[in-house]
Amino acid sequence: NEAAPLLEVHRLGACYGRVQALSDIDLQVGQGQIVTVIGPNGAGKTTLLCALMGVLPATGRVVFDGDAASGAADIEERVAQGLALVPESRALFASMSVEDNLRLGAFRFHRRPKAEHEAALEEVFQLFPRLRERRQQDAATLSGGERQMLAVGRALMGKPRLLMLDEPSLGLAPLIVRDIFRIIGELRARGVSVLLVEQNARAALRIADYAYVLELGRIAMQGPAAELANDPRVVDAYLGAG
Ligand code: ATP
Repeated sequence: NEAAPLLEVHRLGACYGRVQALSDIDLQVGQGQIVTVIGPNGAGKTTLLCALMGVLPATGRVVFDGDAASGAADIEERVAQGLALVPESRALFASMSVEDNLRLGAFRFHRRPKAEHEAALEEVFQLFPRLRERRQQDAATLSGGERQMLAVGRALMGKPRLLMLDEPSLGLAPLIVRDIFRIIGELRARGVSVLLVEQNARAALRIADYAYVLELGRIAMQGPAAELANDPRVVDAYLGAG
């Protein structure tokens, strides 16, 4: 993986009580890259994102843009560094409007001038015209795809340098999945680096620059996404026929 590193993870480990969920994870995300982590259910993909986001304590070293993060669970520190996580649950405020959900995503800039917030909101609306149409509606009234867009849009309001997405395609219809992946590509074009966890290995490998396969809490394979997509072991285990 040869792009200048934005995120460097060395020998990361994490456990739940006595259960070691992740061991010896070495991983990098380069500036402006989409890096994907694929793997079966329970492999530890969500745990990895939680450890990187400071939701869970971890061992090993995490260096973000040259700054080492503490191993402690310190979400505020990671947010301040420029990391954002869109969880699988999407975790929206159902009885708040689309616009207010988005504005909440900019909480770390609450001291900045109003014009900056409006500009950020405008950028999100350009990426997701649907959200503009629905800006006054409660989040609860959105379709699954719109909720995912809102969750991503809210994360973008915090101007992350690395956006971490946990299964953004989960439960969405194929056409919507295509839309979501198109937007992920658009984010890369705008300079946001992306760490993408996906069960949809086919779509993830198609869009990513580099990929890791996580199995039983360890990196089992890695390589440029286009190469992994043609590796017979990956094809057998994750891409199926066709
Ligand atoms: P999925 O795609 O199903 O979310 P995953 O690859 O994201 O799978 P994780 O959710 O990270 O996997 O889970 C990794 C392992 O840690 C699994 O064996 C899981 O049962 C275990 N685990 C996850 N969360 C907890 C928890 N809160 N307490 C104890 N064990 C957990």
